[in-house]
Amino acid sequence: MEHKQEHESTIKVKVSDLTQHLICPRLVYFSAREHEQHGIAKGKERSVIESILLKELAFNLHTIRDTKDEEDDVKRAIEDIVDGVEWIYKEELKGVEKNFFEAVKTDFIRSQSMNTENNEWLWKVKNENGVLKLEKAHGYEREHTMVSEKLSLSGSVDKLIRAGEEVIPCVIKTGKCPEYSVWKSDRVQLAAYAMLIEEEFETTVKRGFVEYIRTAEFRESQIRRRDKALALQILKRVKRIKGGVFPEKGENAPCDNCVFEEMCETKKTLLSKLFGTILYSVY
Ligand code: SF4
Repeated sequence: MEHKQEHESTIKVKVSDLTQHLICPRLVYFSAREHEQHGIAKGKERSVIESILLKELAFNLHTIRDTKDEEDDVKRAIEDIVDGVEWIYKEELKGVEKNFFEAVKTDFIRSQSMNTENNEWLWKVKNENGVLKLEKAHGYEREHTMVSEKLSLSGSVDKLIRAGEEVIPCVIKTGKCPEYSVWKSDRVQLAAYAMLIEEEFETTVKRGFVEYIRTAEFRESQIRRRDKALALQILKRVKRIKGGVFPEKGENAPCDNCVFEEMCETKKTLLSKLFGTILYSVY
């Protein structure tokens, strides 16, 4: 037991491991065993590239905000933003065909800059409320990295806003936006960043923001004690998994879109064979 604790105390966890665990604990298991080189899941290339392009837009909203309301102007701004994507996300885009990437990029620019007059997305980006107002007034630091030796936890928060004494974490999401508030996994992620910020800046973090960039919904979320408690609970589970424990699959595990699907099946079969052998030798 003592040996196990010693082992787990040396395991390092990233905030992204916690969010991965919330999707499916087995993702943590396979990622920790360096299976990431399998790249983008087959058939998912377009949506992954679109997510990357959207994320980059979120980092550059100020450029779009400052455009005139003319289609060409907005289009040019978006073109400029997505231009550097292949360099910034080189690792993520490994294995993607150049022509395919260019085609997705062209479609993306067209769809984002279309119908300037009726574009609700553009209107929301330009309507400086909440987090956008804070970003305009104070700026933000992109992907600020924090490390806590005490928690064995590290993470890079997408945007870190320092508004006077207040330090505010802000995460960008390219998926669906909930009807109200933010998703539970996003609350846990913000709580984990809040703990890292509190340690580094010796402050208390009261709130964070989630930018659901696909629909330009910008939501504020209070940092609650119960979310911090859940983040710590998941942190412990992640340590166990990274230490070698093969976990159960997540309740709503997205197996159909998973790069580890084959590996997951093989592991399950191996385990049940082993389990079968043990049963056989007992009887
Ligand atoms: S195949 Fe399903 S259970 Fe296995 S890691 Fe992927 S999402 Fe989780």
